[in-house]
Amino acid sequence: MITRFLGRVFSGQLFKPPQPKIIPFIVHGVGREAISPCALRVTQTLQRHEFSAFVVGGAVRDLLLGRRPKDFDVATDATPEEVRGLFRRSRVIGRRFRLVQVMCGPETVEVSTFRGTHPVDEGDERVADEHGRILRDNVFGSQEQDATRRDFSINALFYDPASQEIWDYHDGVADLKRRRLRMIGDPERRYREDPVRMLRAVRLAASRGLEIDPGTRRPIRRLAGLLANVPPARVLDEMLKLLLSGHSVQCVAQLRKEGLHHGVLPLLEATMGQPLGERFVMLALRNTDERILAGKPVSPGFLFAALLWHEVLAAWKGFEDKGEPPVPALYRAMERGVQAQAGKLAIPHRFSADMKEIWALQPRFLQRSGKRPYRLLEHLRFRAGYDFLRLRCESGEVDPAIGEWWARFQHAGEAERSQMLVHDGEPSGRRRRRRRRRRGGGGAPGMMHSGSELVS
Ligand code: ATP
Ligand code: MG
Repeated sequence: MITRFLGRVFSGQLFKPPQPKIIPFIVHGVGREAISPCALRVTQTLQRHEFSAFVVGGAVRDLLLGRRPKDFDVATDATPEEVRGLFRRSRVIGRRFRLVQVMCGPETVEVSTFRGTHPVDEGDERVADEHGRILRDNVFGSQEQDATRRDFSINALFYDPASQEIWDYHDGVADLKRRRLRMIGDPERRYREDPVRMLRAVRLAASRGLEIDPGTRRPIRRLAGLLANVPPARVLDEMLKLLLSGHSVQCVAQLRKEGLHHGVLPLLEATMGQPLGERFVMLALRNTDERILAGKPVSPGFLFAALLWHEVLAAWKGFEDKGEPPVPALYRAMERGVQAQAGKLAIPHRFSADMKEIWALQPRFLQRSGKRPYRLLEHLRFRAGYDFLRLRCESGEVDPAIGEWWARFQHAGEAERSQMLVHDGEPSGRRRRRRRRRRGGGGAPGMMHSGSELVS
């Protein structure tokens, strides 16, 4: 035992930094033509100037999985200033850790200098908080250190377009082959350093069809609460990536399985607990996934509006039951829905404004007489409001006949439209409004709220 140990010491094995496995093209099969023109140009230019340069991270992982990468990142031993000096169309971004964005035509590639980790005793500057969360990690390092500070083995692969080799420090290629997501180093410590890694584990596993290695998975449930210490803007970024991954159904299912949804969407839990809430959210997610996979745009505001809708609905009903008229009750419920997330998820104003608009349009879809449906059709956000209504119909919350009416009305000619208007002997809008108000609001068949007062 001792002789074996000493043998390893003397052969230098214990003191040498880990050597990467260098995997040739013939084994992994990813040719340089798979690399985007901008990333190729960046690595070639850097290498021509005697720097080392690799495509790194998610792009290499996705190419090995046979997927088209969303974007390409480059890692190099050149400093940001040196990179900046080589590319005319480039700029340094990031305050804490500076990266260089290089633009070629419509494409942008982010170039980062190899990063290391701080030595722990750094004088009086705090490197981590009391839970072990890293507050600063802005020192340059070697390529090997850069690999080791990445999260999962499959995200720590470096591809050299010149030689078409993959440099693999942590057996990422083997893990990819086994479809395993494995944390580099001690998982608990790595989650404490950055709790967002728990969300990344769930997203990557669910969206790439990988299994989370048992050791990497085990601490998650216990440490889920640490997400509360992460700045809400970062949680939002990661949640958006998760919801817009094209696999949000699997991601949310896995979030719930790991007990992570408490930390990120407190209201999601409540929504899922409502009879129609779960059905509605799952439909909204499936719909979003389909749109993304078909290359159609999706709006985060729409998605968050859907995630929070049943909470808003319940609050709306609650305020109405206490005697508040429908419109103020709805607006108060909307405020509450947005506020309840604020501490955890910092939904930016541009999204919450969208959400509120979509919610506020809902009652107007009930009004199918006179000029109102025409006015609604012209509303800038008609499409989003209508898509939202269809989800409500599909989930069983609203009478499907109303959704179908709007489907026809939108595309009908003028004569057909005027025939479609609801002339059912109802009192005029003005009288009906007054009557409703006196009754404290009421609902048309199939709707929880009429919201006729929202007519503009
Ligand atoms: P995608 O771009 O498909 O969402 P990605 O893995 O490329 O996935 P990015 O956020 O683009 O994710 O990060 C790029 C790389 O940076 C990752 O592959 C990983 O190596 C590293 N990385 C990102 N976030 C972390 C983190 N929280 N801790 C450690 N390394 C990280
Ligand atoms: Mg990426």
